[in-house]
Amino acid sequence: MVLFSGMLICQQPDQYEKTRNQMVDSQIEARGISHQATLQAMRKVPRHLFVPQAIESEAYSDRPLPIGYNQTISQPLIVAHMTELARPAKGKKALEIGTGSGYQAAVLAEIVDTVYTIEIVPELAKESAARLKTLGYGNIVVRYGDGYKGWPEHAPFDIILVTAAADHIPQPLKDQLAEGGRLIMPVGDPATVQQLILLTKRKGKITEQRLEPVRFVPLKRLK
Ligand code: SAH
Repeated sequence: MVLFSGMLICQQPDQYEKTRNQMVDSQIEARGISHQATLQAMRKVPRHLFVPQAIESEAYSDRPLPIGYNQTISQPLIVAHMTELARPAKGKKALEIGTGSGYQAAVLAEIVDTVYTIEIVPELAKESAARLKTLGYGNIVVRYGDGYKGWPEHAPFDIILVTAAADHIPQPLKDQLAEGGRLIMPVGDPATVQQLILLTKRKGKITEQRLEPVRFVPLKRLK
């Protein structure tokens, strides 16, 4: 059995524990998220340690927040929604494209076995890797690079979450989805509004479901 020391750190009460629980009650559970493991993970991950210190006190508000380099940490509700849609469980392996602050990766890592996450802004990749290490998330692997191509060395993945928007779903990501796997990505005009898409793979065949409108930062490409 592996014990991740950071999970013990996270379990200790902190000054934001009450605010964090209120966030989950009023912003997440009250709006229909019912997947217990997702709710538990969001009660546990210290979101205030994933935003710049200057705006720490706003970490549990109902909106995305700037994390530097023109990027944002998603609104808590969208993190919860994408996590629930992914049907995370013990024994599963996840890939995230767009590490950003590392918050979504941490929420997933509370539930699944391993999270591989790729970030295209080198500074963010470095900062998030350090943050996740400090918090003791030994089951998250952060890499700098262009997530468009996925991470073939660790494929196939039961879960693929793309937290940046493009006008199509990258073929390499579809190819790296495991049998029974679920891929969630905002697809549409990266400059305005997109639609959240859920792909499922059964017997090698991919089925697409179109969900609600969302707004994400654009998926960039390395030249
Ligand atoms: N999941 C993050 C928020 C994502 S914001 C969190 O929990 O904080 C989207 C992130 O995707 C940004 O950090 C952006 O730099 C990154 N990104 C954009 N294009 C990318 C690409 N091609 N590969 C990897 N990351 C990318």
